[in-house]
Amino acid sequence: MNHIRIDLRSDTVTRPSRGMRDAMMRADVGDDVYGEDPTVNFLQERVSELLGKDDALYVPSGTMSNQIAIKIHTQPGQEVICEENCHIFNYEAGASAFLSRVQMHTLRGNYGVLNIDDVKNAIRAENVHLPPTGLICIENTHNRAGGTIYPLENIAEIAKLAAQKGIPLHLDGARLMNAVVATGIPAREWTGYFDSVSLCFSKGLGAPIGSVLSGTKEFIHKARKYRKIFGGGMRQVGILAAACLYALDNNIKRLADDHENACLLAENLKNLPGLFIDMKQVQTNMVMIHVRHSKFNSVTLSQALLQQGVAANAVDAERIRAVTHLDITKDQILSAVEIFRDLIKDA
Ligand SMILES: *Cc1c(COP(=O)(O)O)cnc(C)c1O
Repeated sequence: MNHIRIDLRSDTVTRPSRGMRDAMMRADVGDDVYGEDPTVNFLQERVSELLGKDDALYVPSGTMSNQIAIKIHTQPGQEVICEENCHIFNYEAGASAFLSRVQMHTLRGNYGVLNIDDVKNAIRAENVHLPPTGLICIENTHNRAGGTIYPLENIAEIAKLAAQKGIPLHLDGARLMNAVVATGIPAREWTGYFDSVSLCFSKGLGAPIGSVLSGTKEFIHKARKYRKIFGGGMRQVGILAAACLYALDNNIKRLADDHENACLLAENLKNLPGLFIDMKQVQTNMVMIHVRHSKFNSVTLSQALLQQGVAANAVDAERIRAVTHLDITKDQILSAVEIFRDLIKDA
């Protein structure tokens, strides 16, 4: 779509930089289904180290990462406790029902964060009528809540409860590095509470493809098998892993720029007529823009913005989501603000 000048739809739209492409071109490769791709193996070691886990596995997508984890942790007929707006429940095309034959037990969170008492009440007792609780999933940062950060104390509480009940805990950490950069809390401190973690490279980290799933040696041994079953066994994939290694070295610290740009956008939009922004929600690289305008709703405003070259998706009838990323500059943010201002000046 070449009429888009400022693409705020998602941080998945980033294109590999020149430096990243150079790294991809130089990558040593081998057959990764045989475990012989040195670049993939190095990426898996680097991510294990970063997340403080025994082992890791490179997979094609964040969805596959999460779904392999669900497959390993659960048995058919079990229930997975998760937040009602989470990615696993809403945006993975019903994969957990399709692939693992589990049902989701969703809870309403506060800015995407589960309440410990709700989790306690949701865990099923031993009873012939009830589906056993097989897994608890947490999403950090939380996408649909607006890129919000999960407080560490809350994770610690849930982890303690899960351990008492013998229930595994999975982290959908597609944007974990945004939480790390925003808080200064190292990745290992978050991930220490989880049995498995998925981390995306094709979001703010700017690689073209891929996610890394991490956990114990035994967990990753099983994950390798399910990756093959799900059709995700890849061959000379070091070419792509090289992009992820480049992202680890070059694109983590700079996530702070995306957070700054999101703040700048929110600060400038929040006082415009007909727009409302909950600044408590603006914690990382997203801005949820509530549209309460006499001439526009979220869908028609999003269409009008697109006419002016600014792309941002309406996530529901009231909200537009704008996402900042490494292909968006401060000047583009300021220019987007002017376009918003022009469109909505008379509320
Ligand atoms: C993007 C995303 C994923 C994975 O999505 P894919 O498109 O399959 O890579 C998983 N969880 C969250 C929270 C995401 O935002």
